[in-house]
Amino acid sequence: MDYQAILEEIHEEIKPEIGRGKVADYIPALSSVDPQQFAFSIVTAEGERYNVGESDKNFSIQSISKLFTFTLALDIYSRDLYKRVGVEPSGTPFNSLVQLEYEQGIPRNPFINAGALVITDSLITHYHDDYKAFERIINFIRDISDDPTVSFDPEVSTSEMDHGFRNLSLAHLMKSFDNLDNDPRTVVQTYFKQCAMSMSSEKLARAMLYLANGGTDPLTEKVYITPQQTRRINAVMLTCGHYDASGEFAFHVGLPGKSGVGGGIVAVVPGKMGICVWSPALNKYGNSHAGTLALEKFVEKTGLSIF
Ligand code: GLU
Repeated sequence: MDYQAILEEIHEEIKPEIGRGKVADYIPALSSVDPQQFAFSIVTAEGERYNVGESDKNFSIQSISKLFTFTLALDIYSRDLYKRVGVEPSGTPFNSLVQLEYEQGIPRNPFINAGALVITDSLITHYHDDYKAFERIINFIRDISDDPTVSFDPEVSTSEMDHGFRNLSLAHLMKSFDNLDNDPRTVVQTYFKQCAMSMSSEKLARAMLYLANGGTDPLTEKVYITPQQTRRINAVMLTCGHYDASGEFAFHVGLPGKSGVGGGIVAVVPGKMGICVWSPALNKYGNSHAGTLALEKFVEKTGLSIF
């Protein structure tokens, strides 16, 4: 299949949609991002790379980071992790407090904010302090993207901390239910740093390869997790990766995927490739508007849906 030609066709067709929607302005440092940007990258299990648009421009990965911390925590705690966080779609917005109250501090899944906070908390506990936990997170992301220069943007994490009242509320609520080991502020701060990782679409597509290949990087042959754990992560991505629009994404795209409010969406074609699309303007669910449509076009043109 001529992937380069397909990406170029999608880029052309998607142009009228780029910029439609709204950039995430609840994080002030993200409010000034130019909404007219777009990139689409594919990295195959054989290491072939295909790109269109601004595929080497770094953006804030935000919730895409939840995938990487989930991977690390699953490797450490195995199924004990599920005592603290579930694997059911929430049907609620990503930062909702309501469900957490009536489900007694156990978040529905690792991809809503409450679940991701529990996961980050579990890493801080395991590594005994927040700096070591963050160092592990950043090194893991460097490893899977095969790029030692990948880093985070302190301006974004500080900006989010200055306005992080809702995430602090989630952390405090879970602490009150005894589902947080560490200081809520420390957990939220570490979580904002992982969200502020800055990467391009090409790097993120590359970083998805271990999830496209049963937990082992097909290019470096490093083993990160088991094939069974990989299936679990991909299943949770499919059912919970787009918050309360996860059903829609499965319906229209049909690939395990994870979005972030920086406008990035990563996806996996099992056995074949890692994908990342980026366009900062978001739809009402907090997912990239043009990115979602571009992925829909991609599966229509290639037939590469898991269904
Ligand atoms: N840092 C963001 C938050 O907690 C992540 C949300 C997202 O990307 O969906 O609000």
